[in-house]
This record gives sequence, structure tokens and C-alpha cells, in this order.
Amino acid sequence: MERLSARVRNLSPSRTIAMNQRARGLREGGADVIDLTVGEPDFPTPEPVRAAAKRAIDEGNNFYTPVAGYKDLREAVSAKLERENGLRYPVSSVMVSAGAKHCVANALLALVDPGDEVVIPAPHWVSYCELVKLAGGVPISLPTLASELYKLAPSALEAAMSPRTKALILCSPSNPTGAVYSMRELEGLAAVLERHPRAWILSDEIYEHIDYTGRAHASPASIASIADRTVVVNGVSKSYSMTGWRIGYLAGPEALVKACIDLQGQMTTNASSIAQRAAFAALESGTSLIGGMLEAFRRRRGLVVAGARKLPGFELLEPEGAFYLFPDVSAHFGKEWRGRALASSDDFAEFLLEEALVAVVPGSAFGEDRCLRISFASSDERLMEALERITRALRKLG
Ligand code: PMP
Repeated sequence: MERLSARVRNLSPSRTIAMNQRARGLREGGADVIDLTVGEPDFPTPEPVRAAAKRAIDEGNNFYTPVAGYKDLREAVSAKLERENGLRYPVSSVMVSAGAKHCVANALLALVDPGDEVVIPAPHWVSYCELVKLAGGVPISLPTLASELYKLAPSALEAAMSPRTKALILCSPSNPTGAVYSMRELEGLAAVLERHPRAWILSDEIYEHIDYTGRAHASPASIASIADRTVVVNGVSKSYSMTGWRIGYLAGPEALVKACIDLQGQMTTNASSIAQRAAFAALESGTSLIGGMLEAFRRRRGLVVAGARKLPGFELLEPEGAFYLFPDVSAHFGKEWRGRALASSDDFAEFLLEEALVAVVPGSAFGEDRCLRISFASSDERLMEALERITRALRKLG
């Protein structure tokens, strides 16, 4: 067989998706697996959004759209960014893609040359490193500490910057740690970036509305000294429970957005016309459809944090945003299971899947092998049941 490209040979498949498929496979085989791997809200898409999509089908939106998205949707994105974030972007600085992930990919392909370094605070979302590699760049995974709430310290950023640094990726609220940067913390990082004018900032704000801090969302794009090299990525996936619809957007300097539009024009043309109409309805509704979902997540966060803190050997921070717990379970490493010592987050996730029928994602997928990512985007009952099962399974470890 022909050898595949080095590009794909060096690509790691998404471990989150792999664990999720494993859980699905076991379930299809009849096992009652509780799947806490998922990175998506478990609510239906709000009714007005669904209605807009149905109308869009009947009204004949079956044609290609402009590559950057329908003009009224780009206007709605621009209005959203001004209304909710105080950011002013003309429509020409906004582009719609097939999900926030696609936006990150477009931006990295437009910015990164072979050999360029991209600094990524760890623990980090699974896809950043792989997308940087696909663009020919070198991901520089920069560890952060639980004792510093998994936030990047300005001194650590300064130490990681090099003449080859092309971009820093920030994700706040963070998947997987739930860390949420305050404006003051972002300003501390901006002070470092001011000394490195070649570096772009890719700000992934997809969890913007899943924030329990009560503070206004802080975006590096609102810091004047770095605004002209910041790209904001966001979308409707998490805020409006629309992961499957595949609509994300990015906003940034016009030259970069134009480059992304040229790329997208060659690779995918446009995001789905029907989903764009649905996303328009979601953005037009502002935040009115979001409150109920956030309250449910807040309640579940309380349940799982309290429950997980009672689990022996689980060390965790209360997440400030997103819908994941990220406990350090390394206290269990070295204990024997099935004749072998548990040695890694992969081993521990395997143990939980086999012994508790609870599927979670090993922290190794996010660059932190002591931890697990447990999604609490699941019903209260299933979450309580999962905690009970884990409690029982842990007894087997002694
Ligand atoms: N960024 C982060 C941090 C995410 O967790 C996800 C979804 N798991 C995405 C981007 C992708 O979002 P979308 O579904 O809109 O592509």
C-alpha cells in the first residue's frame, strides 16, 4: 500500500472521541455504561432555534452561501461581540465556519509556517497540538499548576517565548480545567506579549457562557495593546446546545480573516446553510435561552464537586467554568489492579470503565497524566449513580 503522508502519520486521533466510541461500543453490547466523556451539553437545542431551521428548509436555503457565511449572520455575530463583549468588529472581520474547531484550524493554517512555535498552556484541549502540527508548526505545551488554578503565569509565558513563537492559544473558560481568566490576569499576560510583537493570540471563548464566577467574560481582544493581533473564536455549540449543527465563528484583523476566507473557499466552501439560519436565530435571542442551562450546570457542578471530594484519592478544584471536573487521581497510581500496578491516567480510566462502567477521558489526552476529565453534562441521577459506582470500584483498590 502507498505510504500515507507524514502529516497524517504524525496525527494523534482525538482521545476524547476514542473513549466516547469505546463507551458507545460497550453500551451497544448491552453494558449499562455511564458516559461522562462527552464535551457537549445534554439539552435539546432551544425550540426557537429549531423552528428557524425548519423554516430555513422550507424557504429554499439549499444553495451555497457566501464562503464567510450569510451576511446577516455575520452581522449578528458582529452585534453579539459588541453587545456582550464590548468588541467592535466590522462584518469584514467576521467569518463563519463549521464549528469552533474549524475556526481554530483555519486560523492556525493562516498563521503558522513550518517550524513556527505555538505556545499552549497545559492542561489543554485535545485538538490544539494536533492542529498546530497539521499546519507544520511546533506545539509548545506549557504546564500550569493546580496550585495556581491551572492559569498561565506571566513569568512562565515570558520563559516560553522565543523568536520562533508565532502564537499563544488561550482557552477561557478552559476545557479541561474549568479555569477562567480575569481581565487583570489577561492584562498580566498582555504585558508579556507586548514585548513579543510577532506573536498572535488565539482566544478560544467557546465556553464563554458556561461561567460560574459571576464576572463579566474577559477577552484578550479587549486589551488595546494586543487587540490587533488577537483572533477570537466562539460559536453556538456549547451556549445553545448546538454541537451537532456545526457553526462557529472567528473575528480578528481583516487581513487574517480574509486569508481564512480564502482557505475555507478552497477547503469546505461554507458552513451548512440551514445551520447558519439556526445560528442566526440563536444569536438574535441573545442570552435569554442560556440561563436555564447554566443553572442546571451550576447545580450539577455542586453535586459532583461535593461527591468527588468524598472519593478517596481524588484531589480537585471547583471549576469556575465549562462542565468538567479535572481531579488528580495520582494517589492511586502504584495500586494493583488485575495483577498490574495502575501507572497512568489511561490505566485509571480503563479501571473505571471496566470496574465501574463509568467512561471518562484520561488526563494524558490533555497533557496532564495525573488527572481525569469527568464531564458533568449528564443528568443528576446518572451523575449520582456514577459517583456511587466509582466509590464501590475504588474499594477494590484497597
Ligand atoms: N474549543 C474547545 C475548548 C472545545 O472544548 C470544543 C469542543 N469540544 C471546541 C473548541 C469545538 O467546538 P465546536 O463544536 O464548535 O467545533
